[in-house]
Amino acid sequence: MATGIVGEFLDLKSETDADVLAMQCGDFYEFFADDAELVADELDLKVSQKSSHGSSYPMAGVPLSELTPYAKALVERGYRVAVADQYETDDGHAREITRVITPGTLLETTDAEARYLAAIVREDGAGNDGDVDGPYGLAFADVTTGRFLVTEVEDESDLRAELYRFDPAEVLPGPLVRNDDAVLGAVREELSGSISAFDTEAFAPGRARHAVRERFGAETADAVGLDSELAIRAAGAVLAYVEETGAGVLASMTRLTTYGSTDHVELDATTQRNLELTETMGGNGDGSLFDVLDHTVTSPGGRLLREWLIRPKRDREALERRLDAVEALASAALARDRLRETLGDAYDLERLAARATSGSAGASELLSVRDTLAVLPELAAAVEGTPLAESPVADVLRRPDRGRARELHEELAAALADDPPNTKTQGGLLRKGYDEELDGLIERHDEVKRWLDTLAEREKRRHGLSHVTVDRNKTDGYYIQVGKSVADGVPDHYREIKTLKNSKRFVTDELAEREREVLRLEETRGELEYELFEELRETVAEEAALLQDVGRVVAELDALASLATHAAGNDWTRPTLATSRSLSIEAGRHPVVERTTDFVPNDLELDPERGFLIVTGPNMSGKSTYMRQAALIQLLAQVGSFVPARSAEVGLVDGIYTRVGALDELAQGRSTFMVEMQELSNILHSATADSLVILDEVGRGTATYDGISIAWAATEYLHNEVRARTLFATHYHELTTLADHLPRVENVHVAVDERGGEVTFLRTVREGPTNRSYGVHVADLAGIPGPVVDRADEVLDRLREEKAIEARGGGGDANGGGTKQVVFDLSSGSFATEDATADGAASTADATNETDGTNEASATSGTDAADATSDAAVETETTGSADRANDGPAPASEAVLEELTNVDLATTAPVELLSRVQRWQERLDGDDRR
Ligand code: ADP
Repeated sequence: MATGIVGEFLDLKSETDADVLAMQCGDFYEFFADDAELVADELDLKVSQKSSHGSSYPMAGVPLSELTPYAKALVERGYRVAVADQYETDDGHAREITRVITPGTLLETTDAEARYLAAIVREDGAGNDGDVDGPYGLAFADVTTGRFLVTEVEDESDLRAELYRFDPAEVLPGPLVRNDDAVLGAVREELSGSISAFDTEAFAPGRARHAVRERFGAETADAVGLDSELAIRAAGAVLAYVEETGAGVLASMTRLTTYGSTDHVELDATTQRNLELTETMGGNGDGSLFDVLDHTVTSPGGRLLREWLIRPKRDREALERRLDAVEALASAALARDRLRETLGDAYDLERLAARATSGSAGASELLSVRDTLAVLPELAAAVEGTPLAESPVADVLRRPDRGRARELHEELAAALADDPPNTKTQGGLLRKGYDEELDGLIERHDEVKRWLDTLAEREKRRHGLSHVTVDRNKTDGYYIQVGKSVADGVPDHYREIKTLKNSKRFVTDELAEREREVLRLEETRGELEYELFEELRETVAEEAALLQDVGRVVAELDALASLATHAAGNDWTRPTLATSRSLSIEAGRHPVVERTTDFVPNDLELDPERGFLIVTGPNMSGKSTYMRQAALIQLLAQVGSFVPARSAEVGLVDGIYTRVGALDELAQGRSTFMVEMQELSNILHSATADSLVILDEVGRGTATYDGISIAWAATEYLHNEVRARTLFATHYHELTTLADHLPRVENVHVAVDERGGEVTFLRTVREGPTNRSYGVHVADLAGIPGPVVDRADEVLDRLREEKAIEARGGGGDANGGGTKQVVFDLSSGSFATEDATADGAASTADATNETDGTNEASATSGTDAADATSDAAVETETTGSADRANDGPAPASEAVLEELTNVDLATTAPVELLSRVQRWQERLDGDDRR
C-alpha cells in the first residue's frame, strides 16, 4: 500500500469514478501511477519516477496555469478528469476533489458545434421482460450555450432518432437504460459520445422534479408544460450531474425548452443518414446537404442552420414566416449582403453568456459581448429603408429588448479598456471615468510614479551628482544607482545596499516610503479593479437571457440569410405549402448532385389518387437520385427553405422514412437482409397517411422469390393500410404489374436510349414501367464474357415469357401421391393452382404454361390454395430442384409449406409475414444442410 503523496493520490482517486485525477502539488498538477502513463500517452507528457516510501511510481505534471488546455484535450478524447485542489489548513495543507470535468460539461471548447450532455430515462414498469419498448424521457443540455431541451419519445426508434440528431458528447443512462443493451449499443455504435454512470437517485421522480423547480422556478417548470414525468426525471438528472461535477456550468442553464413528438418531422436515424443531411454515407461532412447549404458567417448561425435541417417543422405558420423572410432576403441582394457583412462582426453570444454566468469569462470575453451588442443597432440600420423592413426579418430584429441591450452595451463600453491585459489582478482592465475610487487610486499612483520617474533628475541637481539612475528590480525594490566615481559624494541620508563593479546602489527613507506606497496602490488598484470587473461580469451574467435572445437573433438572421444566399445563387424557388396530401414538383433537381453535375430536371406528381410510384430503370440510371431529391425537396420545404425546382407544391408531412442500401450496417457485421427487414418493419409500423416513404430496393438481400414476395406484400400494405405517399424503386421488374390492381399505384421509369446495343442514360423520368430489367446489360458493361451474356439474355427472354413466380410440388409422399403446382400469377396478383401430372423435376416453363391455360378458372383464395397444396413441398430455389425432388420432400420443407399455405394474406400484417418468411428460410436452410 502506497503512503505519502502517492498514497494520498490513490486515496483521492478511489473517491471518484473519473478516469484520471489531476492533484495539485504546489505550483503543479500531478498525475501518478497509471494516470501518469495514460496522460503521457495521450498528451505527450514526459514521465518521471517518483520515489515514495521505498517504491517508485510514474509521475507526470503540468503547471497550475496550464491545466485547462490539458484537461480539455483529455476530455475531448472522452476521458473524465477529476481535479483535486490544495488548500491551507492550520497545520499545513490538505487536498480535496473540487470538480470533475467531463465531455458533456466542458465549457472551454472552441468547437463551433453544439456539445450536448444527454440523460435517458425509461418507464419503470417497462422493459423487464425485454420486449416493452419505451416510452423514454430525454434531456439534452449544451452547457456551452445554456440550451436545455427536454422531451418524451414513444419508442426506441424515436429515441435513437433524437440521439442521432443531437449526437451528445456524453450520455447518462437512467436506471433501466443502463442495462439495456440495445440502447447502449446504439449509443456506442451510432454516436461519438461517451457513457457515464450516474447516481440512480438523481433519476428518481421526486428528486428530479425538485431539481428542475429549484433551477427554473416552479412557475417556469409548470409554464413550459413539462408534464411528462419521464422528461422531468431526465432533466433532473442532467441538472444534478452538472451540479455535482462542480465545474460551475450549472449557472449557464437559464432556460428550459420542451418539445413534443408532433412539433417536428419524424426523421429516424437511418433517414437522417440516408439523406446525408449533415454527413455523407461515408461519414464525411463534405458533400452533405448542410455542407452545400451553409453560407453562414457566424458559428451560432451554422449551429442553428444545422439544427433546422435535422429538425424540420410541421407548423405551417412558422414555415410561412421563415419562407417570407427567406424570400425577402433572396430578392434584396444588396440589403442581404450588408446584413451578412454586419453579422460577420458578431461573436458567439450564447457561449459568451454561458462563460459569464459560470464565472469563467475574462475581459476579452466581455469585450466580445460589448462588440456583439453593438452589432444589433447596425443590423437594424442595415434593414431600415430596405424591402427587408417590411418582412419578418424586421420582426426577428424587434424580438430582443433593444433598450436593455443598448444599456448593457453602454455600461460595457464605459467600463472596459480596449486592450486589457491577460491577468485580471494587475490593473488595466477598466477605463478611466468608470469608478471614482479607482480613478483616485490611479491618479495617486500616477503621481507617485511621476515622482519616482523624475527623482534621478532631482537628485542630480540637488546634490550635484552625475551618473544617477533610479530603477527597480525584484530583490532590491526601488533604488538609486550612482556611478562609482561619484559614489563618495552622496549625501548622508543615502543608505548603501549593494556594490557593483562600476556603481553602487542606495536607498533613502523617502524612496522606501514611496516604494511602499506604489506597491500598496498597485495592490489596491488590482483588487479594486478585479472587484469591479467581477461586478461587471455579474451584471452581464444577470443579463444572460438577454444575451441569449440577441445571440439567437444573430443566429437566426445568419441562417435565414444563408438559405436566401443559396436560393438566389442556385435558382431555387419558393415552395407552396399545400393542404392536400400531395407532392407536385416541376423540374425538380437534387440539391447536392446539381452542384457537381449537368443536372437533368424531372417532374414528380404524387396526390391522393396517385400516392404510390414504382420507379424502375436500369442500374445507375438515376432512380435513387430522383427519389432522394423528392425527399430533400419535401424536407427543405419544411425547413422553410426554397427548393431546387421550377415550382413545387408541397403537402406537409409528419415524417419522412427512407430505406436504401445499407453498406455501413454490413460493415458493422449485421446481415444486410436483417437490417433491411428491421428498417422496413420500422417504416411499416411508424409511417402514416401523412408521411413520405422512400424505398430504394426492398428484398434485394435475399433470394429472388422471397424478395419479390416481401416487396409485393409491403407495397400492398403501404398502399392499402398505411396510405403514405410512397416512392419505391425496384429492380424487380415483376412488381410493375402491381399498378394494374392497386388503384393508387402508378409506374414511372427513368428512360434510357438503347441503340445498337449501346445504352445512353437520359436521366429523364417518364410515365409507365420499363419494358425490361437491365441486369444483363450491366453484366455486359462490367466485362462478363460474351457467351455468358448471350446465354443470360436467352434465359431472361424465356423467363420473361412466364410472367409468374412458381412454387412447385416435390416428388410426392411415401404413398406416391400426385404433386400440385402453386403459381403466383404476377399479372393477376393472386395464386393459381393445378394438379400436376409431371413429376417434381418438370421444367419451370412447362409447369407455368400449363398453369397459364387455367389461370382465371383456378385463381383461388389463400385458403383454397392451402387445401390444394397441403401435401406438397415448396421449392424456393432456382437451381438443383431435380436432385431435391428425387430425394423427396425434406421434413422442414413440408412443415413450412403447410404453414405457408395456411397464411391468410388478407388478414396478416406484412411485418408478421416478413418475420415468418425469415423463420421459414432458416428452417429451409437447415434442410439444405441435411
Ligand atoms: P440508380 O439509383 O438508378 O442506380 P443513381 O440515382 O444512383 O442511379 O444515379 C446514378 C448517377 O447518375 C448519380 O451518381 C448521378 O450523378 C447521376 N444522375 C442521376 N440523376 C441525374 C440527373 N437527373 N441528372 C444528371 N445526373 C444524374
